[in-house]
Amino acid sequence: MDGVHKKLLEKQGYRIVGKHSAIKVCLWCKRSIKAKDACYKNTFYGINSWQCIQSSVSITNCYLRCKFCWRDLSITEPEEIKDPDSPKFIVDNLIKEHVKYLQGFYGDKEINDQRMEEAIKPRHIALSLAGDATLYPLLPELIGEIHSRNMTSFLVTNGLRPDVLKKLLVTKNTPTQMYITLAAPDKETYLKTCNPLIDNAWETLQESLEILPQFPRNTIRLTLAKGINMHNPEGYAKILKPLNIKFIELKAAMPVGYAQYRVEYSSMPSHKEIKEFSEEIAKILNYKIVNEKENSRVTLLMKEDSEDRKIKF
Ligand code: SF4
Ligand code: SF4
Repeated sequence: MDGVHKKLLEKQGYRIVGKHSAIKVCLWCKRSIKAKDACYKNTFYGINSWQCIQSSVSITNCYLRCKFCWRDLSITEPEEIKDPDSPKFIVDNLIKEHVKYLQGFYGDKEINDQRMEEAIKPRHIALSLAGDATLYPLLPELIGEIHSRNMTSFLVTNGLRPDVLKKLLVTKNTPTQMYITLAAPDKETYLKTCNPLIDNAWETLQESLEILPQFPRNTIRLTLAKGINMHNPEGYAKILKPLNIKFIELKAAMPVGYAQYRVEYSSMPSHKEIKEFSEEIAKILNYKIVNEKENSRVTLLMKEDSEDRKIKF
């Protein structure tokens, strides 16, 4: 990452950590500190949004250039990170930068004092902000480092490194919840939506999807935009059916960050449209919509709702 790009990211609210990582305090974390609302992962899985660090350990590294990506796609390094920072350095400094940012909230009359006290002791790290964490070569060790601090982790990947997923399983450093984004119901849509920078990306994604059910809290997320990838529910269902996935999220793509230059506002599905699309897929899969959050335009499908949906802390 060069100095110009670093400055640009900082202007957008990112705080850079070391050579290739960053945090950005998310809107939901800010809202939840004011006890106004919380993110859909609080609704669905019970994580405390006010104690969550939104982070990336691979801010510019990714094999894809998805239309709905928040990143500046002109800076995409389709390769594994060389000379990586250590997991301890990264976790120490993700926490440090996040807490430093939150210190600025003291004095804001709207904050909830108890939430603020809890917020400066984060308990959860979401590895999902931008870039793909599987391109950080010490990912299993990083997950281990997060968990050793009694924190939980959510990992979202595009599924283009099945070898890294296997490594997480073999080393038993599996994230608390493991996500793969399924951005298309068929290869043609995938290539148009995600613009891969590697060969056989679609086929590699299928390989990762087959591994995903081995993770205890396995999740597939469909990020949907009208006129781009929100069609062919049968195609999505055909991919999902044999996997027996625990959690399936259907979510409207949000034209925020750089996505606003690639995805028209009118392409963003309403909650009603997300729900209708969810119902079509759920029907084919014999799943149910077990939860939803209207202002995030997201639904959660499961075979049957279960008590372990909410993470125990
Ligand atoms: S899980 Fe995501 S949306 Fe929720 S608080 Fe963490 S970073 Fe924000
Ligand atoms: S996989 Fe994620 S980081 Fe990579 S281009 Fe797509 S949305 Fe952006």
